[in-house]
Amino acid sequence: MNDQNFAERNFDLDIDKQTVMTLGSHCSLQVLKGAKDEGFNTLLVCEEKRFDMYKRFKFIDNIVSIKNFKEIVNKNFQDELIEKFSPILIPHGTLISTLNMDELESIKIPIFGNKWILRWESDRMLKQQLMDESKLPSPTQISSKNAIDGLCIVKLHGAAGGKGYFLVTDKKGFEEQAQKLIKSHIIESEENLFIQKYANGVPVYLQYFYSPITNELELLGIDRRYETDIDAIGRIPSKYQISSNIEPSYTVVGNIPIVLRESLLPEVYTMGERFVEASRKLVPPGMPGPFCIEGVYDKNANFVAFEFSARIVAGTNLYVSGSPYSDLLFDTPMSMGRRISLEIKRAMGASKIGLITT
Ligand code: AMP
Repeated sequence: MNDQNFAERNFDLDIDKQTVMTLGSHCSLQVLKGAKDEGFNTLLVCEEKRFDMYKRFKFIDNIVSIKNFKEIVNKNFQDELIEKFSPILIPHGTLISTLNMDELESIKIPIFGNKWILRWESDRMLKQQLMDESKLPSPTQISSKNAIDGLCIVKLHGAAGGKGYFLVTDKKGFEEQAQKLIKSHIIESEENLFIQKYANGVPVYLQYFYSPITNELELLGIDRRYETDIDAIGRIPSKYQISSNIEPSYTVVGNIPIVLRESLLPEVYTMGERFVEASRKLVPPGMPGPFCIEGVYDKNANFVAFEFSARIVAGTNLYVSGSPYSDLLFDTPMSMGRRISLEIKRAMGASKIGLITT
């Protein structure tokens, strides 16, 4: 089906009676701005402390404030939202980091995309399985601290935005760093850590959107993260890097836009298509909507993927008015948030809402 058909069908739809909802954090402004631009009613559920900030934005039609995001699992609360707004919930990193997967899967409000795949994002073992099935070249996994040999990165489970990650070259370094995390109650035991060979290269985050309605994969943007303080360490001369004993961390504080050499794009599309295919096979219904493949390009311009996100990523916030890639596909400024709402609109028009929500 082409755009013309969608446009004709959408003519009669009560888009403004359909509500697009998200949690007030991560990329909510972009998501709801995009929803408003597509003509939807918008709903933000935010924590009380951020109410004043969010009420500045006129494209948010309704704000419901709660003490803590955890309250979203409350069935009565969900029933009230469903009754009043009949919303579609757009999941993002905060939903995943706030709820455990059982809680997330129990949500009754229709979730945009495939909620079952979010478990595969947050569980490192499942994540690796899906990456392997997608034939994404990825850094060697180190199964035990005894096997650490050379530079490795040690990660926590879940979407923690790089917080708590550390580098090690041997078992002793691993144990020392793990102890610090245990003492600060960030993890319970070494078992909570995941060791991966360090992939040397420049970080690149590929932002895709797959439409099960048109069966097309779109590349909508590319970014890299701005991480403190690994991105700060190069600002001091090497003699102070060594003498000050700084342990670099990987906490994300923002994102920086990137455009790739055009000759790298064919492989970018191939990787995205393989990921869509593998998701369909391992986690039906697959990967409708936004996702991101995250990795580095090495000195031979080969891509090594260390992660994926099976939902919208915060790096898409760069492109509220479209990106150098979305501009090639759409005549209107197309943020990822807006693309999501466009898909909802198209699905409503084609009576295929079941294809894009779970
Ligand atoms: P992640 O939470 O896995 O996206 O990782 C957060 C950050 O850690 C990334 O943006 C990279 O800077 C870094 N990182 C993660 N895994 C690796 C790896 N295997 N090799 C090099 N850097 C990595």
